[in-house]
Amino acid sequence: MHTLILTLGVLVIIGSLSYLRVSLMMSTLTVFAFLFATHFVTPVPMGLWVVFAILAVPLNVSPVRRALLSKPILKVYRSIMPEMSSTEKEALDAGTTWWESQLFGGEPDWQTLHNYPQPRLTAEEQAFLDGPCEEVCAMVSDFEVNHELADLPEDVWKFIKEKGFFSMIIKKKYGGLEFSAYAQSRVLQKLSGVSAVLSSTVGVPNSLGPGELLQHYGTAEQQNYYLPRLAKGEEVPCFALTSPEAGSDAGAIPDFGVVCHGEWQGEQVLGMKLTWNKRYITLAPVATVLGLAFKLRDPDGLLGDQKEIGITCALIPTTTPGVVIGRRHFPLNTMFQNGPTQGNEVFVPLDYIIGGPKMAGQGWRMLVECLSVGRGITLPSNSAGGAKSIAAATGAYARIRRQFKLPIGKLEGIEEPLARIGGNTYLMDSASALTTTGIDLGEKPSVISAIVKCHLTERLQKVLIDSMDIHGGKGVCLGPNNYVGRGYQGVPISITVEGANILTRNMIIYGQGAIRCHPYVLAEMEAAFLDNEQQAIAEFDNALFGHIGFSLSNFSKSVWMGLSSARFTSAPTSDVTKRYYQHLNRFSANLALLSDLAMATLGGDLKRKERISARLGDMLSQLYLASATLKRFEDDGRPEQDLPLLQWAVEDSLYKLQTALESLLENFPVKGLGRTLSWLIMPWGKPVRAPSDKLDHKVARILQTPSETRDRLINGQYFKAIESNPIGIVEQTLHQILAVEPVYDKICQKLGKKVPFIFLDKLAAQGLEIGAINEEEAKQLCEAEVGRLKVINVDDFDPIELQAKQLPKQQHKAA
Ligand SMILES: Cc1cc2nc3c(=O)[nH]c(=O)nc-3n(C[C@H](O)[C@H](O)[C@H](O)COP(=O)(O)OP(=O)(O)OC[C@H]3O[C@@H](n4cnc5c(N)ncnc54)[C@H](O)[C@@H]3O)c2cc1C
Repeated sequence: MHTLILTLGVLVIIGSLSYLRVSLMMSTLTVFAFLFATHFVTPVPMGLWVVFAILAVPLNVSPVRRALLSKPILKVYRSIMPEMSSTEKEALDAGTTWWESQLFGGEPDWQTLHNYPQPRLTAEEQAFLDGPCEEVCAMVSDFEVNHELADLPEDVWKFIKEKGFFSMIIKKKYGGLEFSAYAQSRVLQKLSGVSAVLSSTVGVPNSLGPGELLQHYGTAEQQNYYLPRLAKGEEVPCFALTSPEAGSDAGAIPDFGVVCHGEWQGEQVLGMKLTWNKRYITLAPVATVLGLAFKLRDPDGLLGDQKEIGITCALIPTTTPGVVIGRRHFPLNTMFQNGPTQGNEVFVPLDYIIGGPKMAGQGWRMLVECLSVGRGITLPSNSAGGAKSIAAATGAYARIRRQFKLPIGKLEGIEEPLARIGGNTYLMDSASALTTTGIDLGEKPSVISAIVKCHLTERLQKVLIDSMDIHGGKGVCLGPNNYVGRGYQGVPISITVEGANILTRNMIIYGQGAIRCHPYVLAEMEAAFLDNEQQAIAEFDNALFGHIGFSLSNFSKSVWMGLSSARFTSAPTSDVTKRYYQHLNRFSANLALLSDLAMATLGGDLKRKERISARLGDMLSQLYLASATLKRFEDDGRPEQDLPLLQWAVEDSLYKLQTALESLLENFPVKGLGRTLSWLIMPWGKPVRAPSDKLDHKVARILQTPSETRDRLINGQYFKAIESNPIGIVEQTLHQILAVEPVYDKICQKLGKKVPFIFLDKLAAQGLEIGAINEEEAKQLCEAEVGRLKVINVDDFDPIELQAKQLPKQQHKAA
């Protein structure tokens, strides 16, 4: 009994020390001090001293530890370490880690998050948003673009080229706008609220493509030639990586180039013959310069000893003989320029390689490095912007449209999807802002960019489905007055491009996160690759024992936070948000613990156990999204009125986190371990619950009622009430309807009965007749009726207008 109590005492001390991440030596000394002090009160059994000595000496004496433990473990480690292709290695090396590594590490420092600067626009960026951006929004009718022209109108193409929309990433010295990532994001958000074709046309040249690649890797000559031309819109770029045979597995492209001599502009030069067949290439049909990824071979050794040089990126003017472009794909009725391109043995000089011949074979690294940034801006911004405009329009529509004598937005059933739209929108905008903050701080956050690409496009899809359901037939019938149907149709495009979401969720987020964000895994892997065995053992030993201490700490944290419901953990606030930080502390420790256990039990198989990887990735993603939302609330000055949006977004993320944790434990590959862990880390059951009906009600009200909170939620979008912008008309009508409701009430009062809230113009006349209202009020009612009808009505067409191909009979008739 005595020994048992002492042993328990030692275990509690070790647990507490590991919780606090105290070093091994310090922990050993503390245990020794405890046993020594206890000895004066009651003798410590000899057996316990022996066990202590057997463990303490090898663990603390480096040469003994290395020989007895680290060396044999390194041998086993090397045998189970997963094989890694060079493309995978390059993908892992690309980019940097940032705030997500704190979330992965089990002990996030919230002050660090709060200290990141609040994103801000310069005067020049703001002027661009208020000027050219608003102007181009007024020039575009999404229905005309998609249904009538199958393209942006010519004047819009000219305008976006001339005003520098394609040059947001290009440096000023080349004539570009050189905007911050945050400013780019705000531009794309605004454009995407008006037309996905407009935002993707602007987004692509500013994302992964020739401009970005040239700025980072181009030769001075290439930069001086192309960048000013791209900035002025004299060149339209595209970037072609995807082939029919290689989509997600882009490293497997069969397109190739062969180094050879050939004739170029009348002279014999060293060049390459390129053969490619690419598809799905955005802007390819109208491009003047084609960024091309292919595998370069040098069978005759003209460049050196290496015969298979590897993935290489080149810039090919589309006027080069043999380049085939011009045909178009038809992506889900969203008519941005997208199509295939081919070339067969097209000869170009080696100077066409981006960065010149020295960059031959560096293409994959170039692409993944640029993707770490571009993927964090374009699609997340388009998604957040789309969601903001749809949130405004859906809230307004739900307030204007009445059924069963009530605005449908007051019906509980509609409140549920409305709340999802509001909460998701708040979270998406927050995540987009935090990510661009990181990029503007100089990060290339490869893990975060994968998280926001995947989760923001996914959440946009949910927002659009909810919006469609709320709009009923109004959402279904396409036409100039439908602002939701095309987005709903087109959203799978965002889900597919720049790393399709299933792949990104299952392989990339955790696959990269585990290695890049973990404080020790990369060091262990690097040590295992070292040729010098002594150095390998020494470095592996350091990383391994750091790793073991880290795991023990996360175990102690998870158990203690499970028992105490994380109530004693630190949080930077003391109001209602405090519990959110505490739950995040707990889930962060759980993620770190389970990640280590999954790696330890599955080893190299974890790469193939995609669903385990996906759930760990979900935990990391939700931690990031929730923390971004809390950060935004801080940045906004903690406005109390915005609390329902914050609460909904964080509670939803926490609930998703918990769901991922539960299903991970239920499916944990080692039988029994999952259940034991579940019992250890969630001893009182599920710690969090989904947003309540009461909270849903509050968020739904925010969406339907003009207020500062609503303005902050939909801030920066385009709401001018003009014919081509139906979202602007809905917004205007919301204000009109709310303004005339008291007028309507007056009439009803005078009439002594509630009349239907329809035919407001007739009601106005009646109100005047019975003396219930004045002329001005009658006028307001008539105007509101015009808006109301516009909002609830749908478009109809002459059958011929809907025929893409005219039937011979009708052609004949027309003639
Ligand atoms: C409209 C549009 C525009 C595009 N623009 C460009 C462009 O400008 N330039 C360019 O080079 N490319 C472009 N793409 C290509 C785009 O990047 C690819 O479509 C994308 O990489 C997916 O390839 P895929 O369509 O062949 O799907 P596949 O690779 O065939 O994938 C099919 C499904 O399998 C899943 N999957 C694949 N591997 C795994 C895995 N290991 N684990 C789990 N799931 C997996 C995917 O997530 C997907 O759901 C565009 C595509 C579209 C549709």
